[in-house]
Amino acid sequence: MKAVIWQSTNHISVEQVPDPELLLPTDAIVRVSSTAICGSDLHLLDGRIPSMEKGDILGHEFMGEVVEVGKDVKTLKVGDRVVVPFNIACGVCDPCKRGFYSACDNSNPNHRMAEALYGAVSGGGLFGYSHMYGGYAGGQAQFVRVPFADVGPFKIGPDLPDEQVLFLTDIFPTGYQAAENCQIVKGRDVVAVFGAGPVGQFAARSAQMLGAARVIVVDRVPERLRMAAAAGLETINYEEVDVLVALREATGGRGPDHVIDAVGMEAHGHGPGALLDSVEQKLKLTFDRITALRWAILSCAKGGTVSLPGVYGGLVDKMPMGAAFAKGLIFRMGQTHTHRYLKPLLSRIEAGEIDPSFVITHRATLDEAPALYKTFRDKHDGCIKVVLDPWG
Ligand code: NAD
Ligand code: ZN
Repeated sequence: MKAVIWQSTNHISVEQVPDPELLLPTDAIVRVSSTAICGSDLHLLDGRIPSMEKGDILGHEFMGEVVEVGKDVKTLKVGDRVVVPFNIACGVCDPCKRGFYSACDNSNPNHRMAEALYGAVSGGGLFGYSHMYGGYAGGQAQFVRVPFADVGPFKIGPDLPDEQVLFLTDIFPTGYQAAENCQIVKGRDVVAVFGAGPVGQFAARSAQMLGAARVIVVDRVPERLRMAAAAGLETINYEEVDVLVALREATGGRGPDHVIDAVGMEAHGHGPGALLDSVEQKLKLTFDRITALRWAILSCAKGGTVSLPGVYGGLVDKMPMGAAFAKGLIFRMGQTHTHRYLKPLLSRIEAGEIDPSFVITHRATLDEAPALYKTFRDKHDGCIKVVLDPWG
């Protein structure tokens, strides 16, 4: 089959590789009908997440048709149309039972690697996201092996096109969880969202759906701010104004009640400038350039929430903890517990509350993926979200 392969930092290619096979009786094989490139994939392209290996298959946002099931799979059958959460969860461990699917105890045999490599313990397994997260082959491919097939894959009827349901795999739940974590008081609270990438777009619209009185989106990329404005969201271009002053003025001096950082490590900048040789360099950059997180803390109103869907890794220091402490801020963060949100968010799509395909700017074949990774990273050609057709 064809798949998008990580070769080395800043080098990916499309190759013919062996088709995946069932390895465990609880596995299924899915024939991928649509797959997307995520901002998180850019951290892999950049070489910012350690433990990628030459030959690894990328991709964690995918859906398709079940073509094979292991003998212990009970709820899925061949022919089912499914979206597959980007995190792999066993469904029976203590974190899974409490709804913390992304922290599954049993889906990441390599979780200690993160501690050794990066001073952090990673969570459960992820598709296409390095050996630190279990080394699972990803979904930017024609077929993918899906472990714990009774737990993750979520059946979808034939009515909605792929483009409306594909983002249930990650960015819609991720934006939604980020907004839900703010515990927005309906009709009163002002929410600021740093980052108008795909995650920020869904976080902002989720804050709207959850009843925020106002939502203010901060970025510097005009097309992304325009996409937010088209949904009736307020926007600030942080290259044109002092963002902290602008947020204060926009909120009568108190600051947004909650602030979502949908930027994460991207705040270091993608691209060649992000190529770092040593751990010391990585840490130095981490100290110097976490602008979005600093801005989030500094702008947030007293008693507010700083919600972090943006991905951070390694050690982060020199944070304005004094401001956070003085204001009594609440921090919520982490990888999304995608499984929780599939059903409720599908209901919102079915009810016409949101059509997630609004975010798609580029449609392409798998063969075009290497070029489109760079278009997306560099924000060229108005690129906000890329969907790939593995069979096109
Ligand atoms: P993206 O890279 O397309 O978007 C990031 C945006 O942030 C860009 O538009 C960029 O211009 C903007 N930006 C950079 N610095 C900024 C700053 N200082 N202030 C305001 N905006 C700034 O990525 P994305 O797909 O939207 O993903 C965003 C983040 O969410 C990434 O870190 C990604 O890894 C993470 N993510 C997390 C989860 C999760 O489970 N928590 C899931 C998916 C993605
Ligand atoms: Zn993603």
